Amino acid sequence: MTANLALNLRAVQDRIARAAEASGRDPASVTLVAVSKTYPVDAIRAAYDLGLRHFGESRLQEAQPKIEILPGDIQWHFIGHLQSNKAKRVGQFFDVVHTLHNEGQLRELAKAGRQVDGLIEVNIAEESQKSGLPLADVAAFRKIVLDYAQVRFRGLMTIGPAVENAEQMRPYFRSLREANQAAGGSWLSMGMSHDFEVAIQEGSTHVRVGTALFGAR
Ligand SMILES: *Cc1c(COP(=O)(O)O)cnc(C)c1O
Repeated sequence: MTANLALNLRAVQDRIARAAEASGRDPASVTLVAVSKTYPVDAIRAAYDLGLRHFGESRLQEAQPKIEILPGDIQWHFIGHLQSNKAKRVGQFFDVVHTLHNEGQLRELAKAGRQVDGLIEVNIAEESQKSGLPLADVAAFRKIVLDYAQVRFRGLMTIGPAVENAEQMRPYFRSLREANQAAGGSWLSMGMSHDFEVAIQEGSTHVRVGTALFGAR
């Protein structure tokens, strides 16, 4: 397990470095968020021992016990669908919320009593089954986010459509980057195991990688 994880991590870091260098970027400008949903505490601790400090989880119920027993210097990223009725507790346990898209979430997050970094989730291909805002609604919602002092607006996030070839993601990633510039975002959360090189070439600052590190879920 740990041996595989170490090899996988090295491979992911090499892929990040090559993608960054190919586009004239410093690899250190890309944060690797290790997506640990469905993986046990032991796997996260092994990744921590290899130097990782950013972890992503999708469900509060699953994440909370992990957060409670793992080291306090981990940055926890909430990347799942955020229901308003869970948002206050998500704000208490997580440092970064990637999936903001309505004011109900903000109202509840504001009750957490601490500041979090926030990204607006964009439904970049306007798929009916996906959450997130269409690009056209980002500017108005960003203004609302700025009204909430407890949420520091950092930028945009997308999951993106399922495609056969990572290269097909490029136009989506590019339009998210352009929208992020227009919105004044400095972080850009895009790219997963199968497409993070393209995302980095298009300006991603936070790649969310699960399978390529921990193996198939
Ligand atoms: C599960 C998940 C990931 C990681 O996906 P992999 O393909 O395993 O790298 C990234 N982002 C979000 C929002 C996820 O839910």
